[in-house]
Amino acid sequence: MINREEVKNKLLHEQKSIDERIAALRKADPFSDPDYADDNAAVDTDVREQESHQRIEAEIETLNKRLENISMALERNEKGTYGVCKRCNKEIPAKRLELIPESIYCVSCETELTK
Ligand SMILES: [Zn+2]
Repeated sequence: MINREEVKNKLLHEQKSIDERIAALRKADPFSDPDYADDNAAVDTDVREQESHQRIEAEIETLNKRLENISMALERNEKGTYGVCKRCNKEIPAKRLELIPESIYCVSCETELTK
């Protein structure tokens, strides 16, 4: 049996830590440096900054996707459909939910969808 209150707390906690992670990443992004424009750094430094900027952007994108899933999972939790695959309506194994609490698809649907 899924405890709604517990799920909610878990998801909200997850949401908060992702928010914090995004904020930390934004800070670490060399492009967010307000002095960046006046920065007369050497070309190789620019390349390095460009690369780390892209890496940070990619990570933020992944985290944003997780945030989206978390809000969907929260919504499903409110409706009482949390833990049920959105695509095939089968129950999502508890182990998977433990690992990725924002899962809204079972493993095989997720694999199918990301193909
Ligand atoms: Zn499924």
